[in-house]
Amino acid sequence: MANRNKHLNPNSSYDPPRCWVGDTHKIIYNTEAEAELAAKVAAYDHGLETVPKVYKCSYANHWHLAS
Ligand SMILES: [Zn+2]
Repeated sequence: MANRNKHLNPNSSYDPPRCWVGDTHKIIYNTEAEAELAAKVAAYDHGLETVPKVYKCSYANHWHLAS
């Protein structure tokens, strides 16, 4: 029998919330702790010696990683 094209479900693709800062869009972290955890993961993933800084967004009540 015919299969439904489940992969065409428009709700299946989820984009994390982002914030435009200058001409780049940055991932939003709701808490400082969440951003710091993401910074540590990013440092580990990329083999960085220093963990990226986190900072509070100038435009809204959330956090970003400095790049
Ligand atoms: Zn922001």
